[in-house]
Order: sequence, then C-alpha cells, then structure tokens
Amino acid sequence: MTNYQSLGIRPVINAYATVTKFGGSLMPPEVLSAMSQAAGSFVDLAQLQRRVGERIAELTRNEAAYVTSGAAAGVMLSAAASVLVKHPEAAKNFPHIAAFKHEAIVHRSHRNTYDFAVQQAGLKFIEIEPSVSALRAAINERTACIFWFQGAMNSPNDIPLAEMIAIAAERDIPVIVDAAAQLPPVENLWRFTEMGAAIALFSGGKDLRGPQPTGLMLGRKDLIDSIRPISNPNHGLGRPLKVGKEEMLGLLAAVERYLRLDHAARAQYCEEAVALFCAALNPLPGVCAERVFPNEAGQPLPWCLVTIDPAALDRSADDIVTAFLAHEPAIAVSPLDETQFHLNPMTLNPGEEVVVRDACLNLLAKA
Ligand SMILES: *Cc1c(COP(=O)(O)O)cnc(C)c1O
Repeated sequence: MTNYQSLGIRPVINAYATVTKFGGSLMPPEVLSAMSQAAGSFVDLAQLQRRVGERIAELTRNEAAYVTSGAAAGVMLSAAASVLVKHPEAAKNFPHIAAFKHEAIVHRSHRNTYDFAVQQAGLKFIEIEPSVSALRAAINERTACIFWFQGAMNSPNDIPLAEMIAIAAERDIPVIVDAAAQLPPVENLWRFTEMGAAIALFSGGKDLRGPQPTGLMLGRKDLIDSIRPISNPNHGLGRPLKVGKEEMLGLLAAVERYLRLDHAARAQYCEEAVALFCAALNPLPGVCAERVFPNEAGQPLPWCLVTIDPAALDRSADDIVTAFLAHEPAIAVSPLDETQFHLNPMTLNPGEEVVVRDACLNLLAKA
C-alpha cells in the first residue's frame, strides 16, 4: 500500500498553523468526495473554471471568482490582470512589460516573502511610507495597481485600506488585497471586495481546507476575465500555474462547507484546547502558558503562548520544538524564540489536543 509509512515518513500532528511546510490543512470528507467525483470523468476545463467561478462568486457575494493554484499564484495573476485590463496586448510580453503600466504601489512595511510573485509577472514595486501624500506622489501613468497585504505585516500606522481604495478609485487603479490567511472570519470572503478592493485573494489550502494547491481570486469580473486567455488550459504566464478539475470541484465543496460551518463551535473547541494546555502546563516549574488572542495571522481564534525558563529546564524553546518533532507521534508546534513557542489548536483534529497536552507534560516535565 502507498502511504507515508511505506516511504518511511512519519505523519505529523499539526499544532503549528496552516503552514505549507507541514501540508497546510486536511481536506474534510465532502472535499475528498467532490475531488473523487471530478476524477471520474473528463470535462471541458475552461467551462468548468467558469461555472465553478460563477458558483463561488454567488456564494461569496462577489462579482466573479477564479480558482488559482494557491494564493501566491493569485498574487501573480492579479498583478498580471492589472496590466492586462488596460493593455490586453501585454499578454505576449510577460514578464517584459516596461512599455505598459507596470508599477505596483505597496507600503514598504508590507513587503513580504510571498510578494516575489508580483515581480515574477514583471511588475516593479514602488514602496511608500505610510502617508497619503506619499501615496499620491507615487501614483503616475505607469501605475498598474496597489497591493495590500493583510496579516502580521499590518500596523496601526498604515494608510487605512478604505482610504487607499478611495484614492486609487480617483485614478481607476485596482487595489489588490492578499488575504491568503484571513479566514476565519468567513465574512472576509466578501468584506474586502465590498470595501471596494478590486480583488481579494485567499488560500484554498489553509483554513478553507480545500485542496492544498488551490487559491481563490475574488472580485472584479473584468480583471478575472483578463487572465483567462493566459491561464491554463490556454498558454502564457499562467499556464504553469495549472489547476485541475479535481481541485476546482474540491475548492467549491470547501467553500460550501466553510459557509455552513458552525464557526462558534469551532472557536469554542479552540478555547477549550487552550484552556487544557494552560491548566496542564502552568503547574510545571519553569513553564508559563497563557492564552493569546487573536493569533499571529489575526484570525479571531485563541492560541497558547508557552514561555520556558531555559536555565531551569536546561534547554531552549528551540530544543523543545525539535523534541516535539522527534516525539512519537511527531508534533509540529509554532517556534518563536529561545524562550517561547506557541501551541495552535486551529489545525488539530478533535482528540489530538489531549495527545499534544500529554506530549507537553512528557517533554517539559522531564526536561
Ligand atoms: C499563505 C500566504 C500566501 C501563500 O498562499 P498559498 O495558498 O500557499 O500560495 C500568500 N500571502 C500571504 C499573506 C500568506 O499568508
């Protein structure tokens, strides 16, 4: 039988986050079943992409939707769309688009490891300090779009998103919001676009629990239609970012499930898991565990910050993170620094919180 064990690979309990490094998230039965049905017959792929997009758009209160091969692919395709919508002839030129609108304005503080995808499409970042005058000064004839990255990179100093959108609208410049990890809350599926963002991007393989290599591009129909000619099954910049029929139906099933999900019960599960961790860990000498809310991505779910005294335990938090992975079963926790790590309940299957707690007692008491 083909499985992880037959390859000598140990499965991991995920108390870290929806990180790609450990497989993102687990697909629920309704997603697997939709993928398996899709795998049973051939279909016109472009037609399926359109119909799935229409259905997801309807469900998420957006004008249009497109299934991408991940949010990072969505970043690249949205950047390309902002050029194509003004210059359809640029389709043949990517990434050599200096003759067209090709600048993407961004808060300097929002630059992050995923934004390379903007440059892969050939756009050039114009970084601004967080002031309206800097934004206005950066806008010119070459401006294709404004990127906004939502998450840990945001700060109260940012130009408010609504204000950026209003200023961009004066010049007909699309604002693209990378909200890859901004679920929950489920309302974010329409919140950014209702505010006037031209496109909002989400990962399909994070909390949506769709197929790991999928993403959602939601928003303006003209922008989404502009990338169809250069995307799979057509040829051009988007052709290597292939999305299959299984992923399309799987992501649709994941969106349907997410909209039906009892998010309050799920948050309650996370609260109980964090309370369980705190109650078990706090009596241990040299260990302090506390509830932190919201979590790092800003999702409205609690997680547990564990602080240790490396002198008392005779090892660092990093050593403990490594020991969790070597533990049987292997557990991934979220590393922070030499004295702290997080236990994140959002990616645990019910029941695994007890396994994580027991591993903590084992590793931290023995230390
Ligand atoms: C996770 C993440 C991405 C990448 O998403 P994928 O679906 O893995 O491609 C992009 N941007 C941000 C801000 C993210 O958190």
